[in-house]
Formats: sequence, structure tokens, C-alpha cells
Amino acid sequence: YVKEKGKNNYQLFNSDMQSNFYRKMMIEKQLRTALDNEEFELYYQPIIDLKTSDIIAMESLLRWNNPILGLVSPDEFISIAEETGMILPIGKWVLNTALKQNIQWQHEGYKSLKTSVNVSVRQLLDPNFVDDVKKVLDNLGINADLVVLEITESIAMYADSMIAKLNTLKDLGISLSMDDFGTGYSSLSYLNKYPLDSLKIDKSFVMGMNQDDENNAIVKTIVAIAQQLDLSVIAEGVEGQEEAHVLNTMGCDFAQGYYFSRPLPANEIKEKWLIARD
Ligand code: C2E
Ligand code: MG
Ligand code: MG
Ligand code: MG
Repeated sequence: YVKEKGKNNYQLFNSDMQSNFYRKMMIEKQLRTALDNEEFELYYQPIIDLKTSDIIAMESLLRWNNPILGLVSPDEFISIAEETGMILPIGKWVLNTALKQNIQWQHEGYKSLKTSVNVSVRQLLDPNFVDDVKKVLDNLGINADLVVLEITESIAMYADSMIAKLNTLKDLGISLSMDDFGTGYSSLSYLNKYPLDSLKIDKSFVMGMNQDDENNAIVKTIVAIAQQLDLSVIAEGVEGQEEAHVLNTMGCDFAQGYYFSRPLPANEIKEKWLIARD
């Protein structure tokens, strides 16, 4: 059908764009039935206290295995789910599933483990979001102290209504963490407007910090900002012992990354991280 558009358009619509376009359409189409077909699974990655080596939380990370497309990375499908609005039902499923797993861990004796759930701005913008969260918490009877929502910077986050919404979530007892800190478009001025509990240093800074003085300086600066503002700070993307050590000496509180553990299905997390440490 590209040819039908005539010779001039052909150059504007090259084969790379064409295959990207088809892939995106395919992802969009397959996403529509993915929840019903139970193609999603949550993996969990431990978040470690650098001083005590205790596991304080598990971050839930969505995995999608589609019969036609195979495993699709969240970096690819989340943005499409956001554009189409599919992130709303998917996000509800994620929150419910992740918190149900937390309850399960509590039954197994791991009572103070928190669960950190990624939430996209599209979900926060949904007028039903706060009510939906409240319903999930009420239905499961989970202690809100154990629930962390990871949000990201975006222009939309500046609206007063958004700040009010975040305050309502805080009032429920939920903690809020700013994910991918340092990569957003915004200025630092929101830091004292949002009711945040923690900052997560983006992995792009952490992964390069031992090779690159500038990344090292950025990480140090983020830790200092967090300390000044009385926020806790979590480094993501910790791949080596050296990074973990340097982060600890910088005063970074918590860390997660392949050095400690890759994200794993709940049963493997239990074997490798919970039972193993009893
Ligand atoms: P994120 O929330 O910043 O999660 C951290 C990402 O870094 C995860 O990628 C994790 O697997 C990866 N990671 C952890 N440790 C290391 C490490 O040491 N080295 C490297 N190279 N990578 C590490 P993942 O699971 O592919 O997720 C990518 C992004 O997709 C997430 O980034 C988050 O923004 C989004 N996402 C994942 N699950 C959900 C979800 O349930 N809802 C929403 N809205 N977004 C999600
Ligand atoms: Mg996250
Ligand atoms: Mg992140
Ligand atoms: Mg990220």
C-alpha cells in the first residue's frame, strides 16, 4: 500500500518506518486481548538496605509474553499501552496482583516487606485513579504503609489538581517515590511541592558512575539533594560490588540492580531471597 501513495511519498515512508509502524500496530492489537488471555506476569526485584543488607521492598515489574510477538519489553509496550489507554486496566491488574502477592508474603511470615508499584502519568490523570487504589487496598485489607507507588516526572505533574491527588494518596498512608530521577524534563521546583518519600536515581547515572566522574558527581549530588530534603534515596541499576560500596559511602540508603538480583517471578523470589535468608 506504500506504493499506492505514489513515488514522492515513498521516500518519506521508508522500510524502517514501515516495519516500526506494523510492529506498533501489532503490539496495539495484541495488547487489547492480553489481559483476558492472561499473558501478563509480574516479576519482582528486591530493594536492599545498603547498611544492613536487609530486603526492604520488592519492585513489581510487568512482563508480557504474547503467543505471536513473544516476550515484549515494557520499555516498548508501556508507552503504547499509555497512548491507547490500555494502561488503565493493565495498571489496575498490576496493582491488584502486586499487592495480593504482598499479602501472600505476609501470610508466609514476611510481614514488613513493602511492595513498590510503577504507575504511569496516564493512570494518575484518570479521575477514578484514587478511588480505584483505595478500593484495591480495602478489598485486600493491606496496610497502606507497605505500599509504594513509583511515579515519573512529566509536564502533567505540575497541575495543582495533580498535587492534590498525590496528597490524597499520601493521606491514605501510601508512600510515593520519584522514579528515574534526573532524566525528566522538569526543574527541581516540584520537589517541595510533591509529597514525596523517596527519589530513585536513574540507572543511567548509576551504571556509569565508576567509569565516569560526571556520573559519579551526579549520583553524589542527587544523594545530597535527597538528604537535604529529608527524602530517602534508592539507586537503581547497581550491577557491581564496587558501585554498591561507593553508593553506601556516599550515604545512599537503598539499592537495587543485577548485582543483588535480576527481577524474578514470585516463586523464585521466595526461594532465592526470602526462604534463603530465614
Ligand atoms: P523502572 O521502573 O525504572 O524499572 C527499572 C528497570 O531497570 C527494569 O526494567 C529493571 O528490570 C531494570 N534493571 C534493574 N536492575 C538493573 C541493572 O542492574 N541493570 C540494568 N541494565 N537494568 C536493570 P524493565 O523491567 O524492563 O522495565 C522498564 C520500565 O518499564 C520500568 O522502569 C518502568 O518504567 C516500566 N514498567 C515496568 N513495569 C511497569 C508497570 O507495571 N507499570 C508501569 N506503568 N510501568 C512499568
Ligand atoms: Mg520503577
Ligand atoms: Mg527507574
Ligand atoms: Mg526506567
